[in-house]
Amino acid sequence: MEYISTRNKKNKTDSLRAVIKGLAEDGGLFVPAVIPPSGLTKEKLLSLSYDELAMHILGVLLPEYGESRIREIVTEGYRDKFDVPGRVALRHAGDYSFLELYHGPTSAFKDMALCLLPRLLTAANSLTGNPDKVMILTATSGDTGKAALEAFADVPDTGITVFYPAEGVSDIQKLQMQTQKGGNVRVCGIEGNFDDAQTGVKKAFEDVHVKGVSLGSANSINIGRLTPQVAYYFYAYAQMVRDKKLEYGEKLNFSVPTGNFGDILAGWIAKKMGLPVGRLLCASNRNRILTDFLESGIYDRRRDFYLTASPSMDILISSNLERLLFYGLGMDDEALLGLMKDLAGKGWYKASPELMDFIRADFCGASADDEEAFASIKELWEKENYLMDTHTAVACACMEKAKLKGKTVILSTASPYKFSASVLEALGEEVPEGCFEAMDKLEKITGVPKPERLGSLKEKTVLHRDVITPAEINDYVERAANDLR
Ligand SMILES: *Cc1c(COP(=O)(O)O)cnc(C)c1O
Repeated sequence: MEYISTRNKKNKTDSLRAVIKGLAEDGGLFVPAVIPPSGLTKEKLLSLSYDELAMHILGVLLPEYGESRIREIVTEGYRDKFDVPGRVALRHAGDYSFLELYHGPTSAFKDMALCLLPRLLTAANSLTGNPDKVMILTATSGDTGKAALEAFADVPDTGITVFYPAEGVSDIQKLQMQTQKGGNVRVCGIEGNFDDAQTGVKKAFEDVHVKGVSLGSANSINIGRLTPQVAYYFYAYAQMVRDKKLEYGEKLNFSVPTGNFGDILAGWIAKKMGLPVGRLLCASNRNRILTDFLESGIYDRRRDFYLTASPSMDILISSNLERLLFYGLGMDDEALLGLMKDLAGKGWYKASPELMDFIRADFCGASADDEEAFASIKELWEKENYLMDTHTAVACACMEKAKLKGKTVILSTASPYKFSASVLEALGEEVPEGCFEAMDKLEKITGVPKPERLGSLKEKTVLHRDVITPAEINDYVERAANDLR
């Protein structure tokens, strides 16, 4: 299947090479030249298990792998990694339905794709005869980093280097990364925010060239991240029908806590593949750049950046929006480049009314600050005994503002125990000093069991203490790549 770059549509490749490259050479993102239909009938959609559905969707979006490879990748990649039988769980609490995507190895939704990415990558290397080793470079707002580390640690012929904002992730997120074992692993803090880390990493892709090592991406700029995420939108839909909350064929909305726009874009792709999706609610925290964009058509990053209680959404440059803009511009790469140049140079761009009509046909936006998200956590706990994390809470609080028609599924992206201190604060409880004490207290108060793998972090040794400036990223990456050779 043809994948093309958003910044030069003549730059064409297939799914294997798009997964290996991550980012296109021209700085653009790869997208399917034509989004294919899912090919799922009602009977099929309703009868498939999570793994079977993932295999089907990946087979359609990444056809060059072939059916047997995809089967192996999904089966092996997901095996024994999840603490619910169906990989994900749909839970109904009061008027809300939550798709819990955090039952994997790192307790955040990033696992849904990252459990598969190393296998997608090594299979692509062998199928294309790429002789290089692969160094995975990742900028993280907190959750991608750990999920990628967990996935790539000690995978032969690969290395993984993760950059996180030194002061911009939760204590648990930081510890998860700093204690990561593996001979091929590097973890480094950045003096700056996520956008600084992401910009630095994108620059390293362009600047760093080490013979025998190709750089790869575990961020949602990689279609190997995006495509597995499409599957759970189909699964949520099927599960809503099986739970008798939805008639088959009826439209279903999704409320998605958004940062880099990857998760929600996967929902849009599901819609374009034929899933009856109504609105995609782009839920932002106080960093409401996307809310403002959806309202005004102006994307303006010249604004204050806030550290919030939902750190994985503290992002002002939402990379995957570029993919949507590209489709919305009728694949006019020149026009897209104009917008991206404005963003990089002036710090803002204005989308045309036609482009905004295209976007607003499928998306709406709302934002909720910490106070509003905390109120949602408290209310849902007290009324329904349902405990959610701070990111999910943003998506839940936004529901009241957006006033969507019809049924909606809220994507629940992280375990509340990843953000225990904030969740305790939301519940009106005193927050103990250390993060493990907070975890224990939250468990004691709510009776919701904490994930074993978060509790056991306490016994682990911190192995990674590097902190550098964004300007030092290139050198750091070059050294890491040389060590891998
Ligand atoms: C990454 C992340 C998000 C944001 O997802 P995007 O794909 O970046 O929009 C939301 N919640 C949690 C917990 C995350 O880790």
